[in-house]
Amino acid sequence: MITKLLIANRGEIACRVIKTAKRMGIRTVAVYSDADQTALHVRLADEAVYLGESPAKLSYLNAAKIITIALKVGADAIHPGYGFLSENARFAGLCAQNNIVFVGPPIGAIEAMGSKSAAKHIMQQANVPLVPGYHGDEQSAEILQAEADKMGYPVLLKAAAGGGGKGMRQVWQASEFTDALDAAKREAMSSFNDELMLVEKYLTQPRHVEIQVFCDSHGNGVYLFERDCSVQRRHQKVIEEAPAPGLDGSLRQQMGEAALTAAKAINYVGAGTVEFLLDVDGSFYFMEMNTRLQVEHPVTEMITGQDLVEWQLRVANGEPLPLTQQQLSIKGHAFEARIYAEDPNNEFLPSTGRIQLLQMPEESEYLRIDTGIVEGDDVSVYYDPMLAKLIVWDENRDKALSRMTRALSEFHVEGLSTNLEFLYNLVSCDAFKQADIDTGFIEKHQQHLF
Ligand code: ADP
Repeated sequence: MITKLLIANRGEIACRVIKTAKRMGIRTVAVYSDADQTALHVRLADEAVYLGESPAKLSYLNAAKIITIALKVGADAIHPGYGFLSENARFAGLCAQNNIVFVGPPIGAIEAMGSKSAAKHIMQQANVPLVPGYHGDEQSAEILQAEADKMGYPVLLKAAAGGGGKGMRQVWQASEFTDALDAAKREAMSSFNDELMLVEKYLTQPRHVEIQVFCDSHGNGVYLFERDCSVQRRHQKVIEEAPAPGLDGSLRQQMGEAALTAAKAINYVGAGTVEFLLDVDGSFYFMEMNTRLQVEHPVTEMITGQDLVEWQLRVANGEPLPLTQQQLSIKGHAFEARIYAEDPNNEFLPSTGRIQLLQMPEESEYLRIDTGIVEGDDVSVYYDPMLAKLIVWDENRDKALSRMTRALSEFHVEGLSTNLEFLYNLVSCDAFKQADIDTGFIEKHQQHLF
């Protein structure tokens, strides 16, 4: 049984994990960098241990140091949160070698999904539908271009090692291919030190619909329905909702079952997300599987009434899943807005500085705020500039959306620029109210958003 949990993360997700662990009677250990000495996650945990200097490489990415600390404080498990070491197979391996439970999937599953091209091979074998494309090892510009010509433009170049929308380039016609390939490879090299590229048919108006799956170590697996994360800026999620508007029961079931097939193909255990593109004609295609808890997991919690961190800890303890597929159902509708310290009027550049005022709407059964900051905190350049996640629920989409609109108008941050007004404009947009969304939404409605 897990009795002491080290949280190898910071910010809102560290606070989020600590809350559930405490409720379950598990002792919690925070780790922190110089910049985070007085951070909320440090104060919430039962114990806190200094990790290193502020740059993530010297602190939250320092696998060896984190293991040393876990051993020293007698933590029997580590929750990696998202980002940082959460999808690092080597770190999961270090945990295993030191008899520490890694609260995440088996090493083999992380490895299998670590490369988008390797993942696609596995999914092809398992008959999970894929976006038409090329995901082979032949990487010369001539061969990649020949593949692109064959599938027809537009195509999308994608770094196999990619994440966070980096190393991706759309190519609209053959004459642009070589330049786009060079640019994508350069970005992939500098971000991931790996320039392996995939070429995919570029869908022009898809929705991003992802399925939350959960598997235990006894062979049980369920899906906790979908999240629609179509509203994106530069391939990064801005607003998420569950369930996906307009998705009918039979498509939901098909996508859920395909996601479970994907999970079973890699002997998955724990929380995972299978991301699909949903085309206008109702076809859906596997994009990738994220082998961790997602930023947007709260919308799933709101519509299912479950605590996914509790599920993770139970599964890590070797317990069976708390519920069967038949026992799970969707109730109402939830939205999440990601509030960032960034300047929408200046290319969304991250903003830094002291939070001089932080006024948030009141939490209730309809409204939840996941955050790792308090008034007076400094937002530094070192980490992701997300300040908080605002999550609302109500019995249907319209009602939930009015709650979101109101909550955003009641959220005030002073001292640095935020995307609050941008988010408010977004949820107030008629097209958003009518759920007329696809991944091009922000670009298409720019004139209403700034
Ligand atoms: P990353 O791992 O960098 O986030 P993903 O493969 O998950 O990359 O894709 C991120 C986003 O890019 C998707 O949510 C979608 O908006 C867009 N995208 C990815 N593949 C395609 C495609 N074949 N056609 C159109 N859009 C795509």
